[in-house]
Formats: sequence, C-alpha cells, structure tokens
Amino acid sequence: MNAENLYIEGGCYCGEIKYQIRLPVKWCAHCHCTQCRHTQGAPLVTWFGVDKSQFKLLCGEASLNWFASSESAKRAHCKTCGTPLFFMGEQWANEVHITRESTQQDIQLMPSVHVFYDRHVNYLTIDDKLLKKGGTNGFTILN
Ligand SMILES: [Zn+2]
Ligand SMILES: [Zn+2]
Repeated sequence: MNAENLYIEGGCYCGEIKYQIRLPVKWCAHCHCTQCRHTQGAPLVTWFGVDKSQFKLLCGEASLNWFASSESAKRAHCKTCGTPLFFMGEQWANEVHITRESTQQDIQLMPSVHVFYDRHVNYLTIDDKLLKKGGTNGFTILN
C-alpha cells in the first residue's frame, strides 16, 4: 500500500462535514435493522467500521447533529443536508461506524455479511452469497 492509499476522505452531501479515515477499515456490512432503515429512509444501510484512533473529523463539528437512536447507541447526521454519517454504540465502544455511501472513495474492503437479515424488507431482492446473520441480537448466523 503506498502512502496516498493510506487515507480516505468522506463527508456529507452539502460539504460542511468532512472526515478522514486511516485504512485499513475493520469490517463492512449491510444492516437491515429497523433503526437503520427508518433513520436513513432506506431498505438497508451499508456500514464500515474503524477504531476511533483511525477516525478524524476534518471539519463541520458544529453541523454534526448527534441523537440517541436507542438507550445504548447514538447516530449523527448533517444538520444542513441530513446525510446520515456516523453510529457509535456501547456494544462497540472503541469503534466509529460510518455509512459506506458517505465516501465516494475506495475503502478497499467489500461488504462480507448481512446483519439483522431476518428483518429485511420484502420489496428488495437480495441474491448474493454473503453470510446472513439475524435473530434477537442481529448477529446469529442464519445460513
Ligand atoms: Zn451536509
Ligand atoms: Zn442497523
């Protein structure tokens, strides 16, 4: 990996918020949970995760709106354009989760799994060979 590929940048649609990630990302996954779907208005949300130490907010802190999406997790979006950006939860205390589509750059890792798959919507056909997880905690292997 050469130096220029060590970092990627992303941000919100209007450009007020920009972040930088130091590669490699730890994981990339499609999430079908109710909270992801409803808060982002989408049938599923693709996330990637990094350690907090790999994440840096470059600009836009004042535009970042954090809200509690459950008792143990919070999510952030841009106040101006609404782009969903980040998730932080007690279950992954040392990680920042970032929406895959908030960067147009190559994160150098493809999604490897569907989580909360048994809650998936019935109007989207998913026909891949990826691992499917679900159950009460969303992370029990289904297939
Ligand atoms: Zn924005
Ligand atoms: Zn989710």
